[in-house]
Parts: sequence; C-alpha cells; structure tokens
Amino acid sequence: MKINSYYQATTNRTVTGTELQGDVSADVCVIGAGYTGLSAALELAQAGYKVVVLEAETIGWGASGRNGGQICTGFSSGQGKIIAQLGKADAKKAFDISEEAKKLLIDRIAKHKIDCDVEWGYMHCIPKPHQFAELQAWAQEYEELGYGGNTLLTKAELETKLGTTIYHGALREQHAGHFHPLNYCLGLADAALKAGAIIHENSAALELDTGAKPWARTAKGKVSAKFMIIGGNAYLGKVVKPLYGRVMPVASYIIATEPLGENQAKALIADNEAVANTNFIVDYYRRSKDHRMLFGGRASYSGVTPPALGEYMRPRMTAVFPQLKDVKIDYAWGGNIAITSNRIPDCGRLSPTVYYAHGYSGQGVALANMYGKLMAECVMGTAERFDLLARVKHLPFPGGALRMPLLVAAMMYYRVKDAIS
Ligand SMILES: Cc1cc2nc3c(=O)[nH]c(=O)nc-3n(C[C@H](O)[C@H](O)[C@H](O)COP(=O)(O)OP(=O)(O)OC[C@H]3O[C@@H](n4cnc5c(N)ncnc54)[C@H](O)[C@@H]3O)c2cc1C
Repeated sequence: MKINSYYQATTNRTVTGTELQGDVSADVCVIGAGYTGLSAALELAQAGYKVVVLEAETIGWGASGRNGGQICTGFSSGQGKIIAQLGKADAKKAFDISEEAKKLLIDRIAKHKIDCDVEWGYMHCIPKPHQFAELQAWAQEYEELGYGGNTLLTKAELETKLGTTIYHGALREQHAGHFHPLNYCLGLADAALKAGAIIHENSAALELDTGAKPWARTAKGKVSAKFMIIGGNAYLGKVVKPLYGRVMPVASYIIATEPLGENQAKALIADNEAVANTNFIVDYYRRSKDHRMLFGGRASYSGVTPPALGEYMRPRMTAVFPQLKDVKIDYAWGGNIAITSNRIPDCGRLSPTVYYAHGYSGQGVALANMYGKLMAECVMGTAERFDLLARVKHLPFPGGALRMPLLVAAMMYYRVKDAIS
C-alpha cells in the first residue's frame, strides 16, 4: 500500500533488502523490520549472531516509519496500572527500563550518526480546568520515580508557549521530545546491516512454526533458526494464532501542512516541543524541521481509511489552531497502532526459543527499541528484565463476530468519557 507520508517524502536515506529466495538457516529469525525487530537484530548481529530479518513490505513500512515521532516517557497505561500488576518495587524497575529505552534511542542516534532531527521538550495539555489536579499528581508521581526536569504550567504560562487558548495548563517534560521516525528507523536498519544482519524485504512470513525449532516460510523461501523473535505488532494479523487477539490494531492519522515559515511555526509552538492533550483519544502534534505543523489524532477500528483524509483531519487541527483553517495540507497518512486491553505492552514466549513483544499502545517509539533489545538479551541468555515485563497479564480482545461491535462500543465509551471528564 502506498501512503502519502511526509516522512517518506523527506527521508534522508535509502536502505533496502532483497526478497528471500530459497532456504536458509540462521541463529535468529526476526519477523518485522520496525523498531522492535531491527533493535533485536542490531543487538544480536553486534554480538556475532547470524540474524535474518523477514519484512513483509519494506523497512520501516509499519508504524515505525509513520508515527507521530513523539519520544514519550513511561508506558501508555500510566504507572498506576503497572504497580497494580507488578507491585511498587517491580513497577519502579519497569519504569527504569522505560527510561533506559529513551537512553538507548539517544545513544544509538549518536553512535550510528543517525540524522533524525531530535528535539527535546514535551507538553501534556489539559482540556478541562479541573484536570490540573491530575497534572499535579502526575508531576508528583514522576518525582517519586526519580524522573526530574518537569514543570507545571498554568493556563497563562502555557499561552506564552502555544498559539492556542483551548487548554487550561500543562505538564512540561524536559526529557521527552520528538524526531523524524522514518529516518531513525532507516538509520537503525543501516546499523543492523553494517553489523552483519540480513534483511529481506517483500518477504512476508506466511507460515511459522513457533515450537522449539522455529522456522518461517515465505512465498519463495524458508528460514530455519535456533531462535525466533516476533515483532510484527499491529500488522501481524492471524499468521501467529496465539498472538491474534492479544492486541487490537487501531488506525491513527497524521497530516502535515504546507511549510508555514519559521515565524508562524514559532507562533504555534514557541519552543518546538512535542505536544499532546490528555484525552484518551489523543491529539498529538509538533513542528517539523521545515516549519510545518504535523498534527495527529483520531482513531478508527474499522480499518477503512476515510476518503479525503486531509480534510477529515483538518477540523481536529483547527479546533486547536483556528489560524490554520486556510493552510494547505500537503500530506495525510495513517497507520495501525497495536493496543492491548490495559495499554501495557505484551511480551512473552511461545516456546523456549520463540519470543514476542507488541502492543505498545501508541507509545512505542522508545519502548519498541527496548523490548527488541530485551528479546535479544534473552537469546544471549539474560532474561531477567524481559521476564519482569512478561509477568504483566492482559485480557485478550474478543474474536469472531463480536470483535468489531464490542470495539466500536468501547470507542464510543472513550469518546463520551473524553467529552465529559
Ligand atoms: C500513526 C501512528 C502514530 C504513532 N505515534 C507515536 C508517537 O508519536 N510516539 C510513540 O511513542 N509511538 C507512536 N506510535 C506507535 C509506534 O510507532 C509503535 O509502537 C512502534 O513503531 C512499533 O514498532 P514495531 O517494530 O513493533 O512495529 P511496526 O513498526 O509496525 O513494524 C512491524 C513490521 O512487521 C512487519 N510484519 C508484520 N507481519 C509480518 C509477517 N508475517 N512477515 C514479515 N513481516 C511482517 C510489518 O510489515 C511491519 O513493517 C504511533 C503509531 C502510529 C501508527
């Protein structure tokens, strides 16, 4: 599928792989060339393992090449749900792993010289005045976790930083931010290739054996391996039956305006932070390097991309920035987010040699890199941190005829909740 993505139009790299032809063996077969799979592949190739990555489409074709580029803190669920599952001490270890995820990203960008426009600063904005107490509790929680650099902004303070009056305050993080997600993904792939990994594009794993001696068959070949790592996330579909139902693909959409010029872009987001509101169905946005507004949001369970996507998204953007009502929208695209029922990522083993991680629930830019690394650590014999995260339990989503109606009902519930809370 071809998408009209700003990232594809502005990428600074070309990294490709050939289609798998014939039967090969490897130490590790990785499914999916997004952050999860590529991160695992890089770690393992650097350690001397023979790694073969199978990608159904092209490198970064999935969420990793299309996302909002927002480098977030912690887990999409919030820390409370992790504490409820793991207890306070282990939940703190999980949070530390999520912080290490950001550090991993930064270190890789520096080490592999990945040019991907990183900017720091992130503002979480509240749509309702009474939500300020929630921001205070959030700031307090970060303090207790030892995560510093956060500031609470009143409505008046926020209005000096954002060209809108619709919010009632914000939590500003210094150590979260944004970047060009596709350039990072291609840089990661390049690093994995240079370390010796083999990446096959247009090579969907159509049939997999996830038992003790795993293999994956594509249209033109087969990879037999000692270990398998599955990073297909929202695009895996039904090919690995035990994983279907553990996550739900939900579409999210982004538009990029025409270049606005530096002054107008600064009038919208003065200090070039990433911005999101605190709704369940979140608006997320930021400036691009060439001074466009990149505005993301909405959600759809139907899998059908609305026609005239740019105009479908425009009201969402102009509700925040009415001054953009007449700007041209140059790009509009979407992608699938894999959500779990509790919004905590889901990871585990399908057999002693087959690992999976998915379901970052819209917050995988940093985390997917880390879960990929943790799976690589498992292959290398250290599973402690992966096992800690794998203890989290998830309710599966319904299958069969009830799946779609129940999800649409859930969506309606959250829309109403956002409106009245
Ligand atoms: C529109 C959008 C906006 C987002 N915004 C943000 C954001 O701002 N911040 C944030 O933190 N997160 C965001 N996310 C989420 C984030 O992008 C993902 O969590 C992350 O990229 C997941 O990486 P991944 O490698 O697990 O999955 P993906 O990047 O989706 O990669 C999976 C790959 O597996 C391949 N694949 C699937 N099945 C097979 C098969 N059978 N054989 C071979 N290959 C297969 C797919 O083709 C795909 O390329 C967003 C996601 C979307 C879609």
